[in-house]
Amino acid sequence: MIASRLSTVRDRLSAACKAAGRDPASVRLLAVSKTFGDDAVAQAIAAGQLAFGENYIAEGVEKIVALRQYPLLEWHCIGPVQSNKTRLVAEHFDWVQSVDRLKIAQRLSEQRPAHLAPLQVCLQVNVDGGPNKSGVAPDELMALAEAVIALPHLRLRGLMTIPEPAIDFEAACAVHSRARALFDGLNQSKIRQNPRFIPMDTLSIGMSADIEAAIAAGSTLVRVGTAIFGQR
Ligand SMILES: *Cc1c(COP(=O)(O)O)cnc(C)c1O
Repeated sequence: MIASRLSTVRDRLSAACKAAGRDPASVRLLAVSKTFGDDAVAQAIAAGQLAFGENYIAEGVEKIVALRQYPLLEWHCIGPVQSNKTRLVAEHFDWVQSVDRLKIAQRLSEQRPAHLAPLQVCLQVNVDGGPNKSGVAPDELMALAEAVIALPHLRLRGLMTIPEPAIDFEAACAVHSRARALFDGLNQSKIRQNPRFIPMDTLSIGMSADIEAAIAAGSTLVRVGTAIFGQR
């Protein structure tokens, strides 16, 4: 079941890349396994999926530990990170896509164990302006990015957004294009002169419902839960 849904999702990715005139290898698939158990993740692994996203940190860490026998897995934290959870994230995850304030980034860098690779980071941007949403405001993005690249145990890889569900393809393209413009703008900004800056390569936009629009707008990583694992 999971294997066949995964292959349907992979087909959607290839078709969307083809429609957008993009190389299918330029978009990665992150399987969002939140609320599903180790056995569901193991089925996805058996079908060739190695990158997984988790929203709830304690739940994610349990799965990471339980699935240690698979050496090539890559775990992304994609949910809100409170100060009291930074150590768990720093010690167990490979990526965190939901960094939206400096204090959290500083704690993650301080708590990243020295024997591990730097924690790979995306900044979460509040691209559609909801006042109560997490995500850095677009006009504060540059300052946060500059502060994050100064942190020794983090590596800034890109941006992530979670926009409100769009009513149609056009609306989804419009909001994702704003994320793309922020991504390109930051990569081409004065931040390039900072010796620690490495061009960002990850634009994490698109979920089950809007994979096609996100890929049309330039997504390099889609985060897909329901379409792989079923309804939560
Ligand atoms: C749950 C979640 C997803 C996956 O959503 P689906 O609609 O199930 O594909 C992607 N990104 C984030 C941040 C999520 O919380």
